[in-house]
Parts: sequence; structure tokens; C-alpha cells
Amino acid sequence: MAKPIVTIVGRPNVGKSTLFNRIAGKRISIVEDTPGVTRDRIYAECEWLDNHFTLIDTGGIEPDTIDTIFAQMRVQAEVAIEMADVVLFMVDGKEGVTAADTEVAQMLRKAKKEVILVVNKMDKFVNNDNIYEFYNLGIGDPVSISSSEALGIGDLLDEIIFRFDETMNTGEEDDSIKIAVIGKPNAGKSSIINKIIGEDRVIVSDIPGTTRDAIDTKFEINGQKYTIIDTAGIRKKSKVLESVEKYSVLRAFTAVERADVCLLVIDADKGVTEQDIRIAGYSHENNKGMIIVVNKWDLIEKDNSTFKEFQEDVRKALAYATYAPILTVSALTGQRVNKVLDAVDEVYNFRNLRVSTGVLNDILTEAVLMNQPRTVKGKRLKIYYATQVAVNPPKFLVFVNDSTIVHFSYERYLENKIRESFEYKGTPIVIEFRSKN
Ligand code: GDP
Ligand code: GDP
Repeated sequence: MAKPIVTIVGRPNVGKSTLFNRIAGKRISIVEDTPGVTRDRIYAECEWLDNHFTLIDTGGIEPDTIDTIFAQMRVQAEVAIEMADVVLFMVDGKEGVTAADTEVAQMLRKAKKEVILVVNKMDKFVNNDNIYEFYNLGIGDPVSISSSEALGIGDLLDEIIFRFDETMNTGEEDDSIKIAVIGKPNAGKSSIINKIIGEDRVIVSDIPGTTRDAIDTKFEINGQKYTIIDTAGIRKKSKVLESVEKYSVLRAFTAVERADVCLLVIDADKGVTEQDIRIAGYSHENNKGMIIVVNKWDLIEKDNSTFKEFQEDVRKALAYATYAPILTVSALTGQRVNKVLDAVDEVYNFRNLRVSTGVLNDILTEAVLMNQPRTVKGKRLKIYYATQVAVNPPKFLVFVNDSTIVHFSYERYLENKIRESFEYKGTPIVIEFRSKN
């Protein structure tokens, strides 16, 4: 299941960032640092009692062009409502209800989202008298916390995951291949999507996502179902939001999270940009499939080596995603756009490829014979046994004498050996080492 998204909204200074850091700070799990990928402090991957979710502080999304608190709050609330499964609406327990709070409450009530009213700065739980006025906001029972003193945070997290259970397991689990089309504005994402779902395709439905407001496009070709996940550019956006880059990046992130395969659309005329690298990095770190679609190929003057040179540039910029196939297309002329879904199918099949334990162990045994691990801390790594434990993404568990002495470069070596045999085109593979005595 896709990870639920929890957003925090509230007036400036109510304590949103403090809560964000409180929740994310401890539980943030940075699995791997991909060089060249900047981490955004406005979202964090969190975990509570085995429930994973993404936390977003919409306070970080503030268009400079807007000066009144009311207008800023509206933008924030709009973002929060659109992206979230659960909205945390934070108010200040010391100050009481303000006019801006009332206005945001109204927006949230209309949106029919799961909303938790969080009353912050209740540093001393003894004096709870002023909690009652918050019922006037019409959001239900307030949860009082103190972000700075770390009071009530566990109860709040319980409440959050309780809402997941209430609303969410209702069904993204269909059997379609989920595709996120990502890339910077104007790269041609909408044009490509329109070409892919041209007239001869059957659009199954254009229904609002079950858990979010995103509009997904579902269609079917030769019995295979696909879902194209809405990202910036597909849908009409508000003028204000369009100008907020952080917002468009976040939207891409949330689409990536739900995807099996990401199409990273690059404008051939512009090459790989900083924003492309960030979004692709997110796809990589979340172990999503990736296809690099170089669009507007019609604009490029070509000779024999054009493709090769372009490919080299892309590989250099996206060095971590060597597995991703590169396709050059033109949404304008239609050139090779029909290859895109073929590539999606292929990558999806690789993501679901299961290899037999026997063959896997033969390959690893041979790999070790050809290239012994170096000793680390006076100890040599021994590999006992490996098995594939998951697909989509493929995940391998390797039992070793001591998982703390696995060198990064040796892991790479083993990954390459696995890829030499099974290819796993277009998808990251996950290798986990576990100590066994
Ligand atoms: P934001 O603008 O909503 O992100 O608010 P911040 O997290 O930056 O917090 C604003 C101010 O409130 C800071 O000075 C925090 O130290 C303070 N603050 C945050 N949480 C609490 C709390 O639970 N109790 C008290 N007394 N102060 C808090
Ligand atoms: P998005 O913002 O990524 O969805 O990009 P759009 O699909 O809206 O395309 C942005 C602009 O690029 C539009 O003016 C398109 O007509 C143009 N465009 C899209 N694909 C191509 C292409 O393959 N070749 C050329 N020359 N222009 C293209």
C-alpha cells in the first residue's frame, strides 16, 4: 500500500516546525544518501508502531508574493487538503482561537478530510480550562500536546494511525501498473500522457483517487491495466500554487510514492536539470522503477553520435540510476512514444521477477570465488546463503557471518553479479545483509 501522507497546517508560530522535528527527528530514517540529492526539511518519512507515513509541514510552502496571513493560510490549507490523508490542524493553546484559525477550520470542514485538531503549547496539562473554546472550531475533540516539552506526542501519533485504519485501506490495491510521470514543468509530461492515452485507448475511468483528491487516469490495453498518477501539469492548478516550486516538487514526491514505475521526462533541449535530479533521486531512494524519457527529440539536430553523447550526459547527471533505460521520443511528432508503455511493461516484469534460490546461490558462490571480500577489522566476510524475499521491488536477504563488515563496494559488486544474470532492467534491487552465527 502507498504510504499515507500527514500534513501539518496552522498559523505561523503555533509550533508546526517544532512538532515536525519532534516526530521526524527521532524516527526519520535515512536509509541511503544519494549524492546530489538534497533533502528537503519540509517532508520526512516517519514510522510509529510499524505504520509508515510521510509527514509534510506545509508551513514551509509560502509563496513570497502573498503577504497577508489569511492568504498564506489559504494556500497552505489548500496544499494540505490536496495532498493529505490526514491533516493535523494546529492551534495555539496559550493564545486561544483566532480569526485565522476559524477561517482555516471552515476550509478543512468543507474538504471532508480526516482532520485532527491539535492544541499545542499545553505545557502544563493541569490547566486545561481553555481547551473547551477549541470545540467551537467544529473539528471535533482537540488533542492537547506540548511540542517543546514532548507531552502528548505518543497519543497524537496513536490518533494519527488510528485514522489510517479508519479511512485508508479501502483500496489502492488494484492490479494496474501505477505510473508517475515526473519532470520539470514544460518538459512535455502532459503531451506524452495525451499521446499514450490517445483516441484508440479505452479510458476506464477518470475517478478521484480513493484516498486523495488526485485525479488518476486509468486505462487498459490488451488486458493490461495502467494508472497514470496525477502530478503537476496534468491538472489545472491555481495560479498561486503554480509559482511555488517547493509545492510542485512535493507533489511529484507524493506521486512517486504511489508509483511502481516513474517516467522521468527530460526536455532534450535543456538537458538534465537540478530539479530532475532531485525528483529522480527520490524515485531511486524509494526503490521505484525508472525510465528516462528524453522528450522533444525533434528539436535536436542529430548526427551519428548525438544519441550516444546525450546518453552519456544523462548517465553522468543521474549516476545512481544506471539501471534506468533511456528512451528518446517526441510527443509532438509521436516518434517512439509507443515504445514508452512497452518499456513500462518490461520494467514492471523485471520488478516482479522471482529468481530461484538455487540459481541465486550458485551465482553468489561463484562471485565470491572470483573476488573474495577484503578483511575488515581483521575479519573476513563470509556469505552463507541468499534468498529473494520480495518483488516490486526485488529484495534479497543475504545471510553472512557479520553484517557490519559488508563494504559498500562489495555490495555493489554482488548487485552487479545479480544484474549480469537477471538484468533487472529499470529497477533498483534491495540487498539486505543479516548476521547469522
Ligand atoms: P511554526 O511557525 O508553526 O512552525 O512554529 P515553530 O515550531 O517555529 O514554533 C514557534 C515558537 O513556539 C517557537 O519559539 C517554539 O519554541 C515555540 N513552541 C513550539 N512548541 C511549543 C510548546 O509546546 N510550548 C511552548 N511553550 N512553546 C512552544
Ligand atoms: P508539462 O508541463 O511537462 O506537462 O509539458 P507540456 O506537455 O504542457 O508541454 C510543454 C510545451 O512543450 C508545450 O508547448 C508543448 O507543445 C511542447 N512540447 C511537448 N512535447 C514536445 C515535443 O516532443 N517536441 C516539441 N518541439 N515540443 C513539445
